[in-house]
Amino acid sequence: MAICRLTICLALAGVLFQPVANAQRKSDEQLVQQLKSDIGYLASDALEGRRTGTPGELKAAEYIEKRYQQMRVAPYKNSYFHPFRFTYGKEVAPTTRIVINGVDVKSNDNCFPFPFSANKKASGEILPDVMEQGSAWMMPLYASQEEADNPHFDAEKASFEKCREAAKQGASAVILFDSYGSKYAPTFNSQSIYETVAVPVVFMGNKVWKKLVVDRQANKGAVTVSLDIEITKTERSGNNLAAYIDNNAAYTVVLGAHYDHLGYGEDHNSLHANAAKDHLVHHGADDNASGTAALLEMAGRIKANKKLRHYNYLFVNFSGEELGLFGSKAFVKQEGLDSNKIAYMLNMDMVGRLNDSTHALTVGGVGTSPSWAEVVAMAGSDFKVVIDSAGVGPSDHTSFYNAGIPVLFFFTGTHKDYHKPSDLPEAINYQGEVDVLKYVTRVVEKMDKEQKPHYLVTKQASVGKSRFKVSMGIMPDYTFDGGGVKVDGVTDNKPAARAGVKVGDIVIQLGDNKITGMQSYMEALGKFGAGDKTQVTVKREGKEVVLPLEFVK
Ligand SMILES: [Zn+2]
Repeated sequence: MAICRLTICLALAGVLFQPVANAQRKSDEQLVQQLKSDIGYLASDALEGRRTGTPGELKAAEYIEKRYQQMRVAPYKNSYFHPFRFTYGKEVAPTTRIVINGVDVKSNDNCFPFPFSANKKASGEILPDVMEQGSAWMMPLYASQEEADNPHFDAEKASFEKCREAAKQGASAVILFDSYGSKYAPTFNSQSIYETVAVPVVFMGNKVWKKLVVDRQANKGAVTVSLDIEITKTERSGNNLAAYIDNNAAYTVVLGAHYDHLGYGEDHNSLHANAAKDHLVHHGADDNASGTAALLEMAGRIKANKKLRHYNYLFVNFSGEELGLFGSKAFVKQEGLDSNKIAYMLNMDMVGRLNDSTHALTVGGVGTSPSWAEVVAMAGSDFKVVIDSAGVGPSDHTSFYNAGIPVLFFFTGTHKDYHKPSDLPEAINYQGEVDVLKYVTRVVEKMDKEQKPHYLVTKQASVGKSRFKVSMGIMPDYTFDGGGVKVDGVTDNKPAARAGVKVGDIVIQLGDNKITGMQSYMEALGKFGAGDKTQVTVKREGKEVVLPLEFVK
């Protein structure tokens, strides 16, 4: 009997529990399927890396719009599309002319003005090797074949220094030429950190230079040059997408995730070694198709949960994030968002690479409200939560924190494919992302029963998207786009503070590494270990200051 009863129990257990387990699994499976389909499309080659302002970005935006429509989540203020404009980097204006011996060579990509050229005209004859005051100078960029073949020779820096010096000595214009056919000859760097020099300055590549040599031998004459240079700041545009659940509540909760990525790496923000030449799609499956898909799913879940009525819910898919949080900054400004309207903001950026062995989940912004400690505790044993208190971080929650709104930022950690073409859908941990999604849902459900959380200002520097063996102990201004990394805060007793780095300094070089922005800063930092001694160069009130720096253990 006993055996018999035991058999019955086991059989019953099978009958009773199996379907429940199946239902649970099935629902997770459905979630996984939806995430796979969203991430699969957003990270596909067809979207070409979703670079802000490109047809790929627009395709992604149309897909997001369609998904909100399917779920019947209404547009925000009658439109899912909320376009914005911003300026980013430099470009050569179409009016620019570089005429050498009667031929306009500007259309030739072998010849272009440097981004630090003055916006001026200059014309006349040049006698190479004759450097007179008031005349245009032609100078070699490389001193030898060896220098031209050296991949570590910083051609842009050398060009800038030669041009600046020539301008000081009275040149009316400078043409730097490559007589050696360097593989590493400069290209127009839209993100150049160098300030404008006093005269128009142009690079002449090897092809144009060779032709000129032939012409001169034929004509035996001087080179005639007519320059009309105009470098402008690049005007760009992007589309934020916004959907809304209006519960006629006093306050609104914002849930956000950026959907833009790096395209082919044209904006110099790729970590792929040869991005400019290889022209590969940066798929951005984790960064941030993962957050985009999670946000869409959150919208569907909140829409379906009729109990969530204490707040209105606003879902925003930002663009322009990879270039410097431009979409979220614009959205906060355009909509006049602050704590008078918004209860809190949750941001998901890179939530697709949960590590199955560590289960580490970074939750940022924990210091921005006293309410968040309890919320973090709700993660329970599902995750090993890594707390980052700072309201300022390398993603869009920063724009809301700066507007006085409590924020939380969810992030499963950086990885070897970060900002590389290899950030692919097949590397996503879909079940891990489902777990994150469920946790964020629990946060929203809990907060819906509570009063608007209080806002706190945080001091601590952000842990950020990347983890390194060492840190400088500075808080970067993530919105700064003037070249280099602008220091917003210096932590006492950390290497930067000891070296004498001050708030307002712009870090432009770390050891041998030129720092042009957050990307190159993070790359450079990754090269150092505890105990390393090096130098940090900062721009302070227009002057370059070199400080000895020691990374501590
Ligand atoms: Zn990114």
